[in-house]
Amino acid sequence: MFFVFNFALFNFFSFFSAHKMSNGTRKSVVVVGGGPAGATITRILSSKLNPTTTSLTLVTARPFAVHLPACIRMTTTAEGKLEDQVLIPYDSLLVKNNGIIKVARVTSIELGKDATGTVILSTGERVDYDFLVLAPGSEWEGPLAFPDDRAAVLEHISSWRRKFENANGIILAGGGAVGCGPSFCFILCLTCDNNQC
Ligand SMILES: Cc1cc2nc3c(=O)[nH]c(=O)nc-3n(C[C@H](O)[C@H](O)[C@H](O)COP(=O)(O)OP(=O)(O)OC[C@H]3O[C@@H](n4cnc5c(N)ncnc54)[C@H](O)[C@@H]3O)c2cc1C
Repeated sequence: MFFVFNFALFNFFSFFSAHKMSNGTRKSVVVVGGGPAGATITRILSSKLNPTTTSLTLVTARPFAVHLPACIRMTTTAEGKLEDQVLIPYDSLLVKNNGIIKVARVTSIELGKDATGTVILSTGERVDYDFLVLAPGSEWEGPLAFPDDRAAVLEHISSWRRKFENANGIILAGGGAVGCGPSFCFILCLTCDNNQC
């Protein structure tokens, strides 16, 4: 059974309880994607689900969540070393350590009987589910197209900072929230003379 993030949690738990009682075996809940949506629902589920009757697995591509709103500034300037705050480890995500976090990409999903199925990971591992939450978010280009590996992400950030530092001119197309973000950072960097910006 597929769920998008904005489903009603109450309905989920009501339905889940009924489903569990009809079948006496341990159920498997799998969440795909550890961004704000997937991480939030994983945390809530880890605080609610009984591990003796239900397993909870978060499958996410990177070993940390990325706080996207701060990424514009993080990729344009080294000021503040924002990567220390923007790349958020999952250490304290699970309540009472209830659940498993697997760092891998889901490459495909095999549908089974009665709305169950199996997610196939980039590692080759297969994880069966009774309930599947899909929260893979969006893919971005340019500075926000982060690789999955931590070392590669740090190099990606450095390389974009160098591009901005070495640019002779920067043109921003679009004056919405995303376009205004880097503009604001550039203005701050140009006007700040004491490394405090
Ligand atoms: C520049 C910018 C500024 C923003 N500013 C704001 C703001 O000020 N306020 C606000 O409310 N929102 C803001 N947003 C939007 C906000 O960041 C998104 O709405 C939010 O990140 C969406 O969360 P999500 O969990 O759905 O997806 P994402 O954050 O995209 O997370 C998806 C996760 O799933 C993982 N994933 C993807 N595919 C797979 C796969 N196949 N297998 C396993 N894992 C996978 C990804 O690695 C990622 O960890 C901004 C976005 C951007 C880009």
